[in-house]
Amino acid sequence: MDLRSHLQLEQSATVAINTLAMEKKKKGERIYNLSAGEPMIDTPDIVIEAVMKAMRDGKTHYPPVAGIPELREQATDWLNATYYANYEVSECVITPGGKFGIYLLLQALIQPGDKVGIIAPYWVSYPSMVKIFGGEPIILETEEIGNPEKPGGIGASWKLEIAELEKAVEQNLRILILNNASNPTGALYSKQELENILRVAHEHHIFVISDEVYSGLVYDGEFISCGSFEEHKENVIVIQSCSKHFAMTGWRVGFAFGPEEIIKILTILLGQTTSGVATASQYAALCALQNASTIIPHVRDAMQKRRNVFMNIYNELFKTNFSYPASALYCFLPIVSLGIKSSDSKQVCTELLDKAGVATVPGIAFGKEGYIRYAFGESEDELKEGLLKIKEYKETV
Ligand code: GLU
Repeated sequence: MDLRSHLQLEQSATVAINTLAMEKKKKGERIYNLSAGEPMIDTPDIVIEAVMKAMRDGKTHYPPVAGIPELREQATDWLNATYYANYEVSECVITPGGKFGIYLLLQALIQPGDKVGIIAPYWVSYPSMVKIFGGEPIILETEEIGNPEKPGGIGASWKLEIAELEKAVEQNLRILILNNASNPTGALYSKQELENILRVAHEHHIFVISDEVYSGLVYDGEFISCGSFEEHKENVIVIQSCSKHFAMTGWRVGFAFGPEEIIKILTILLGQTTSGVATASQYAALCALQNASTIIPHVRDAMQKRRNVFMNIYNELFKTNFSYPASALYCFLPIVSLGIKSSDSKQVCTELLDKAGVATVPGIAFGKEGYIRYAFGESEDELKEGLLKIKEYKETV
């Protein structure tokens, strides 16, 4: 019996490579892990203390399925105040990470055969999740326009053009997944660009899933949330997470904000699956959000330094002139810039791991061959040494 064929399952490339890198490290190999996107900063002490207190106070039982009320309220206030949105607490549900929020949402929305627009380069899990629920991914291509004119400025690269969306509309798109700020490209959409996309989506009854989990890691330019467009609120769901803003990937806390009837469906799905998010993690998230005004800038500033270090050293070692990505945790760069002829990203990434000890993710996993994604969440020293290892390896091929 072929157990998996009906689900069309594929392994997540980011998770698979990160797992391999961690296994190699455990065996004692010297590995520079630039694969999974994760700010390598410890969870702040204040959060740890709050969790310990909650547990001592007996907060160790089943949580309310949609999330503890204090957290739903805090998360809603935070989103509204930070990104000029206008959600009620009843329009927010706590999910086990942003990732599972997207998964549940696709489960709730997709009917077999539904076409779901995914903007390439895309986060690796979107197409697989769509296929798991019987949907059909429609890939909307974007272009790398060239380097931004101003170093450190917002590039025009890798953003969905309205013409491309309109082409997809003709194919009967039902859902669009928009990832702003973008993993893997760092693309950041302006208010006008989002307005244009949401207007076309609204006119054609396309539901927009706005994955905004990198909104706190914006270095150049302003982050605009799709949740701030009151006139489009009925066909938008915003996905948020504690993972990147607070360096809390392992706690697995995310949020979905959207129309109440959809939040209710997500809550039913949670009730039939995970019974909500681990109570201790919810208290951690509550404390993190209460201290968002200090923790987020701390994480962002550290990540901005790491981005600059990574890109400066890359440009120096490989005689390139790439600008900094405006946001998120990744540099998405062409293989050719390393001076390596092959455009087979899987093969090059495998060699970088096996021969240089540097774990990266092949561009093909994001729908773009010939590129490599480097996560810059590791310490500055790890980034420097990892790049030197790549350079040394390159000299041998
Ligand atoms: N989202 C992060 C990444 O793209 C973490 C791994 C994952 O869940 O995909 O690296």
